[in-house]
Formats: sequence, C-alpha cells, structure tokens
Amino acid sequence: MNNRDLGRRIRKLRNKLHIVSRILDHMKEGIVLLNREGRIISVNRAFLKITGLTHDQLYGRKLQNLDIKWEGFSSFEELLQEVNKKEVWEGEIWGVHRDGFIFTGEVSLIKGDKDLFIAIFLDTSDRRSLEDSLRSLSHFDPITGLPNRALLYDHLSYLLFRAKGKKGNVGVIFFDIDNFKLINDTLGHEIGDKLLKSFAQRLISCFPSGTLISRFGGDEFVVVLPLLEKAEDIERLVSGFIKEASNPFYIDFKKIYITVTAGISLYPVDGKDPQTLLRNADIAMHHAKEYRRSGYRFFTDELNIKISERFSLESELRDALEREEFTLYYQPIFDLNTDHVVGAEALIRWLHPDRGIILPGKFIEVAEETDLITSLGEWVLRKVCKDGKYFLDKGIPLKIAVNISANQLTDIYFTEKLRKIVEETSFDPRYLEIEITESALMKNKQEAARILSELKAMGITVAIDDFGTSYSSLNYLKYFPVDKLKIDRSFIGDIMSDPNDIAIATTIIAIAHNLGLKSTAEGVESEEQLVFLKLWQCDEAQGFYFSPPIPLSQLLEMIQKENLKIRDV
Ligand code: C2E
Ligand code: CA
Ligand code: CA
Repeated sequence: MNNRDLGRRIRKLRNKLHIVSRILDHMKEGIVLLNREGRIISVNRAFLKITGLTHDQLYGRKLQNLDIKWEGFSSFEELLQEVNKKEVWEGEIWGVHRDGFIFTGEVSLIKGDKDLFIAIFLDTSDRRSLEDSLRSLSHFDPITGLPNRALLYDHLSYLLFRAKGKKGNVGVIFFDIDNFKLINDTLGHEIGDKLLKSFAQRLISCFPSGTLISRFGGDEFVVVLPLLEKAEDIERLVSGFIKEASNPFYIDFKKIYITVTAGISLYPVDGKDPQTLLRNADIAMHHAKEYRRSGYRFFTDELNIKISERFSLESELRDALEREEFTLYYQPIFDLNTDHVVGAEALIRWLHPDRGIILPGKFIEVAEETDLITSLGEWVLRKVCKDGKYFLDKGIPLKIAVNISANQLTDIYFTEKLRKIVEETSFDPRYLEIEITESALMKNKQEAARILSELKAMGITVAIDDFGTSYSSLNYLKYFPVDKLKIDRSFIGDIMSDPNDIAIATTIIAIAHNLGLKSTAEGVESEEQLVFLKLWQCDEAQGFYFSPPIPLSQLLEMIQKENLKIRDV
C-alpha cells in the first residue's frame, strides 16, 4: 500500500470514528469504555452529565475508584471477574453526583473483545435532569437550607444500600420541637422561621461531619448517622444534642427556650428501608413524648430498658454518694526481691443495701460519663489519705496507690483539690501514688503533663496503669514524669503458655528498666507466674496469689499477724 492509499484509509477511519463518537455523544445512555484493568479509556457526554465529572477527571481512572455501588457486589473488581466469566452483567447501581446528589441507574456491563469492556448506564434518578432539580431547588428546604424530605429519602436509600452486608448500625433520628406551634402563635411566624434556622445550625454543629441532617417538615427534623458501631454512640449524640438545644436561642433580641423530643430507629434491627425506619423513629418519638423522661426513645425496647437502667443507676449512684455507701478495699503490692510489702492499691466498692458488694466495673463507667466521677474521685482521694494516715499513725509506712479517671485529669483544679485534701487529712503525700491509664494521659496531654509535674513536686509518684493495652507509644513516656509501669493482668494470665503474652510482659519489664522506671505485674494468681516474673526481674507484683483486695481492717490484721515487712519510701 502506498502512502497515498494509507492516508486515504486513515482519513476514512477518522471520519468513521468521528461519526461514532458523535452518535455516542448524542445518546441518552452514559457509555464508558474500559480497558482490561477497568481503567476508563473513553466516555460520552451523557456519562459526564450523570456523574458531574469532567473528561480530565475520568480518563485513566479506574471505574472502581468512582463513588458508585454495584448491586450485589462489594467491589467492582468482583463484578469484572463475573463479567469475564459470563460476558455480560445487568443490574442496578447507585452513585454520588459531584453536586452531592444521588444518582441511580440501570447498567449493562459487556465484555467486548479480550481487552475491552463496555458499560452502558441508563440514568433512572427520578427521570429528571440534575440541572432541573438544582434549578428548582426542589431538594432543599428554603428556610433552613437543609435537604428536604425528598432528598432525605434519596440519601437514606443510598446510605442503607452502602451499609448492606457491613457490620454496624445506621441510626435514624426523628427530632420534634415541643410546642413549636405556641412559639409561632405567640411570637409570630417570622421569629418561628428564624428559630427553625438557628435550630438547624445547632443540629449541624452538634453532629459529626458525614451526618445527614434534613428538615422533614414543619418543626420536624431527621438526622441520619451512617454506620455506627454501637447504639450507645447514637444515644450519646442524641442526649448531647437535647441538652444543647435546651440552651436559649437568641432571636431578634429575644431569648427563646425550647425543648426537643427524639425517636430513634436503627438499621437493620428496626427496618431495612427508609419508609420503615422513618415510621419507626416517628413512633419512638411519640412514645418519648408520652413518657417524658429523657426526651428520647429507641424504637426497640431492649435498648430502652438498657437506657432506663442506666438512668436509675445514675440516680442511685448520686444517692449512694450522699449516703456514703462506698468503701475502699486494699490489695497489697509486694517487692519481688525482698518479699516486703511496698504498698497497697485502693479499689472502690459499693456496699449496696440490697444488692451487696458491687464492683467498680459495674458503675465506674456511668460515673465517668455523667461526671459523677469528679465527686466520687474526690471522695476516694480523701478516704485514701485518711486511711493512709491511719496506717502511718500505727507505725506502718504503707504507700497507697489510687486510681484516677481521665475526667479527673481534665479538671484544672485537680492539684489544688488534692493539695487541700492532703493538708486537711495531714497525710504525707510521699505515701501517695497515682495510677493513670495511658489513654487518660493521651486524651489531654498538655494538661496531664502539667498536673503530673505538679504532683511530682508534691512528692507523689505516678504509675501508668494497664500498660500495654492501648497506645504503648513509647514516645510519650519521655514527656511525662512517670515512676512505674503496671503490666496489665491480661498479659499475666497466660504468661506461662502464650508466647505473645510472654513477649509483651518481658518487653514491658525491659522498657521500664531502660527508662529507669519500676515494673509491677498485676493479677498474679499462681506460683509459676511469680517465678517467671522473678526470673525476668520484674520489680513488684500484686494479685490473688498474694491477696485479693480486702477491707482496711483485714489488711492491718494481715500485716500484723504475718509480721509482714513494709518497705518505707
Ligand atoms: P485496675 O486498676 O486494673 O485494678 C485491678 C483490678 O484487678 C481490680 O478489680 C482487682 O480486684 C483485680 N485483681 C487484682 N488481682 C487480681 C487477680 O489476681 N486476678 C484477677 N482476675 N483480678 C485481679 P476491681 O477492684 O474490680 O477494679 C476494676 C477497675 O475499676 C480497676 O482496674 C480500676 O480501673 C477501676 N477502679 C477501681 N477503683 C477505682 C477508683 O477508686 N477510682 C477509679 N477512677 N477507678 C477505680
Ligand atoms: Ca489500677
Ligand atoms: Ca490495672
């Protein structure tokens, strides 16, 4: 073939291609050509319209990296494998348009020749163009600017679609402003509208980003929390918002107080589609209005029971604190070189009039979440100092370790309070040790570092509790004036058999020694464990092998009867 012939052929081919691409561009269906790896090599205009993306944003990209979900497949790669086998796949998809809309489509994915796939997208998103809906703003509420009910349905469907087959809950929360009609009637609609607007803003500021917040109608708002691991997280956010909403709104120089009621339904337990979930959240909201206890209810009773138990525990704890139903037990800690007692850890017990002794595992968390821990923690510190003084007065120089919660470390008056308690009880602070977990330290590094150095200046020592269970980023140890690492008892239990635990425990001992700190093993229950720990030169230990936590009087008796030697500070 001579050059002229070749030129003619190329021109012909180009013309043909030009015609083909013109046809493609005028088709309503979005067309995408993919290479073997699923990379986009060509798209038509309709596809740009469906996704809101430009040529540049698409060429060379893998189709699987676009925010599109393929019905029945968790990944696009799986789908490609299927098409490789069966030549063609037809199904539904969901995607997010660049403007945040959800688009839906029917797709045929076809295997071309061996190196090519063709995807044909039929846009089924409500059969109206995105521009149209944008222009008419039919998806947004004009007063609050939030997505309206229609967009809520779309988005919720999409979020449920995305959550399919994954662990976790999608939370649907129905909020209703109590007596909003009264506000409208007495203050006028203009103020009512402004209140709705501020209310919407408060919703936005209280829920994490990624939350879908919409105005359902009137004074009703729906919030959707995508994939949460625990139902408790939803409860925390909802109760937090209800509290926040009770702060006054300032509108046109008027101070307006409102209350809100919420109903919560969870995907998948309370429903699998938007209609059911919204209806059940609405029912739960109406129940909450009747009960008027906490301002919110879950649709499922199990969760309501759990929450009402928490409520009664919280109020019982308050009463218990007033009635002094708490006491401290002490667990002695031993020096592994000399077998002397080096101190004792104070562990709180609730002496419940009906239920007997309740362990801290049952109530500390609730105390921490409700901030009761501040007063409870102060009570513990005061009691520890009194008890410590009691031992000192008996000629027993026992050092006492006390557990401190993260919340207490965020109290800017913590050191001051502690100093006052020490003074009032005439306790020598050198006999006091504070136990803090790694996570508590990391929560508020700067404040914690300041408090620790103030404690240090008072002569108080500091131990890191449950070491190895959370951060174990050794870096931070340099920044905190720490004296001791306590190896969590979960590593001690199987220390004789589990190679991981052996490695962790021995590493912690080595780290402590390299940093000039002491190491204490918790939860030692057998002689074998003790021998092992001695072999690895662990400094101190506590556990049922020596003694369980016991009341003060028993500890005193034990020390005197067994003539235990006490290591003075
Ligand atoms: P923790 O600080 O790790 O306390 C050690 C826990 O291990 C205690 O549980 C103790 O009874 C238990 N234990 C001791 N030796 C053994 C053993 O050989 N085997 C086993 N299986 N367990 C052993 P307890 O008293 O139920 O306390 C649980 C947690 O509650 C404590 O863990 C601490 O985090 C918290 N806590 C206790 N008292 C207070 C307090 O006054 N204030 C604060 N904020 N937290 C406290
Ligand atoms: Ca402890
Ligand atoms: Ca511990």
